Order: sequence, then structure tokens, then C-alpha cells
Amino acid sequence: DNNQDIESIQESVKLRNLRKEFDDVVAVNNIDLEVSAGEFVVLLGPSGCGKTTTLRMIAGLETPTSGTIVIGGQDVTTVPPQDRNLSMVFQSYALYPHLTIRENLEYPLRKMALSVDERSRKVNSVAEMLGIREHLDKKPDQLSGGQQQRVAIGRTIVREPRVFLMDEPLSNLDAKLRVETRAELQELQQDLGVTTVYVTHDQEEAMSIADRLVIMNEGRIEQTGTPKEIYEKPANTFVSGFVGEPAINLIDISKGWSRRLGGDVPSQAETIGIRPENLYVEGNVDSDVRESVDLSEPVSLTLDLIEPLGDTYELTLTDESDTLITVLSRAGRTLTEGTDVEVVADMSKVHLFDSEGEAIR
Ligand code: ATP
Repeated sequence: DNNQDIESIQESVKLRNLRKEFDDVVAVNNIDLEVSAGEFVVLLGPSGCGKTTTLRMIAGLETPTSGTIVIGGQDVTTVPPQDRNLSMVFQSYALYPHLTIRENLEYPLRKMALSVDERSRKVNSVAEMLGIREHLDKKPDQLSGGQQQRVAIGRTIVREPRVFLMDEPLSNLDAKLRVETRAELQELQQDLGVTTVYVTHDQEEAMSIADRLVIMNEGRIEQTGTPKEIYEKPANTFVSGFVGEPAINLIDISKGWSRRLGGDVPSQAETIGIRPENLYVEGNVDSDVRESVDLSEPVSLTLDLIEPLGDTYELTLTDESDTLITVLSRAGRTLTEGTDVEVVADMSKVHLFDSEGEAIR
């Protein structure tokens, strides 16, 4: 076990009615959030929604306008950052270029009362965990971007922080490395069990890495839940549109769809939400789907565009009122652009939203 020299500490993080104003901008608008000990929570939302400000307040780098921050039962709202024992990883690696990787990893330990032997055991153990042991005597510029970011993460682990705070730590890596590194990061977090708050605007990354997602918008929390809950039971149109790629179809209900969806559409429903993978081209519905799924009446749509995506196709269609509808289908190869096709919806996956965009079901 590589981790025996690194102790893991599990502490909860509680934000109560937390607010941050910058002049006339309300960056964080009275949010409440409880992160359980050992949990991996991802703050997800569009640019400017207040994710980074929230993280920086937890770190102590930003003073809340009001509200409290409690870590491991201790109110740290006014505790300076260096006394919170948290670790923050940023987008940029910020390693010391003139120091070796070993020296970079040792750096956070310099003020701790450790023997030379203890110090080197901790560094070796972290290097082992991160697969960078053979690079310990190199300088940062001799490592790839992904390796450098691992060293930056290693530097936060070696201190045995109470909580990891990560702000888009993978965004400077190329796509392939980002996917690899996030899997490693997730594994590492599970091994260490350190409570983690992670910020990203990348929904796919968030869905794949989080125990629990916190969807933010304009300084507020729109919804919290497991990735599955957020995906399957979005609380409103904003959340439904922010997760899933290609995006959910949000269709104005006045456009004749309710009739095809059958009888029990409540009168307050204004918008139908249906994900591209829950729509099927009639005649191309797999028999297993047909048997197990309650399908709507067919809707006739014009097929404008067929784009291959590996083994499926992204179909762009328009209905009679020119609303764009996206369907993911394996049938793309047998279809022709410019023709009319019949589309059916998986009724159990249809979302209905009221005039405020709040989910009805
Ligand atoms: P991004 O993904 O772009 O980093 P974010 O969700 O992290 O966005 P924040 O950086 O927290 O958002 O910013 C929230 C709001 O607060 C934005 O309107 C931003 O312009 C504003 N803001 C953030 N920091 C400051 C600051 N130091 N001074 C003034 N306004 C700020």
C-alpha cells in the first residue's frame, strides 16, 4: 500500500447562507451547501456563476460578505487561509521551475517538524501514487503538461490537507490527457478519501468525476444531486440544458406536441424536455426498445442534417413550426437529408416544465 505514509483526514464542509458581493456584483447569492466527509463534490455552471468565488471563500482567499463556513465542525469564516489546512490546485501548475520535482514536492513540508527520513518517505509515497517516481530528480520543464499537473496535485496531497479544493485543474491539458488524468484523480481521491470540492464548467468532466454535483447559475445553487439524479430528474430547464451532450430538446408545448404525447399532460406544462437519445426514428426502433419502452405517437419531422458520431448519428430535424430537434440514432446511414421522417419519444423520459421553467415531472 503506497498510502501508508500519507494520512487521510476526512472532514465535512458546510456553507451557510454564504454571500459575496464585489461592488455592485453579487457573485455568490446566499448559498447553503453541505459536503460530507470524504465526498467528491463538483461545482458546475457557466462562466461567471460564482464557482471560483465560492471555492476561494472556502480557501479563505476571499472574505464572505455574510454567512459562515464550517469545516470539520469548526467555524473558519474568519480563520486566515494558512491556518485552515486546505489545499488548492489551480489550472496552472505553478511549480518552481528551478527546483527538482522532489524539491517541489518537499516544499509544502518545509515548515513542518519532520525528520529527513519522514519527509522523504512522504514524498516517495506521493510520487508512487501519482506515477512520477522516476521523474523526481528532473526539473519541471523536462515533464509533460500532464506530469507537471500531477506534481502540482502531489504537492497538495503531501501536506495531508483536511480538504482538497480544485479549480479547473485539468483545463490546461489536451483532451486525451484530461480524460486520463481525471480518472487518476478520481481514483486517488477515492483512495485517500479526502473531502474534495472541485470546480469546472465542463459538464462531461463533472458528470464523470463527481459523487455529487452542485449546479450553479447567477450566484445561486439551482440543484444538487448525483450525476444520475441531475441527468434524469433536472429541477428546471436551466439544469436540463446544462447537462447532456448534445443538449436536451426544449420544445414549446403549444406547438402541437402535447397531442402526440398522449392524454395526461398537465395544463400548466409549457415546455417539453426530451433528450436526443430518447427520441427514435420510426421504423428504426430496436425491438428491445419497442418491447420495453412506452413510445409516443409518431411526430412527422423534416430531416435537415445527418452527422456521423462514431457508431451513432446526430440528426437535426425541424418540426412544422421550425423548431430544431436533435435525435441520436444509429439509423443515420439508411436515411436521406431533406426527407420527412417519423419520430417517436420514450414517454418515460419526457420532462415537463411550467412557465417558470420548473419541472412538473
Ligand atoms: P469562471 O468559470 O469564468 O471562472 P465562475 O463561475 O468561477 O466563472 P466567479 O469567478 O466566481 O465565476 O465570478 C462570479 C462573478 O463575480 C462574476 O460576475 C465575476 O465577474 C465577479 N467577480 C469575481 N471576482 C471578482 C473580483 N475580484 N472583483 C470584482 N468582480 C469579481
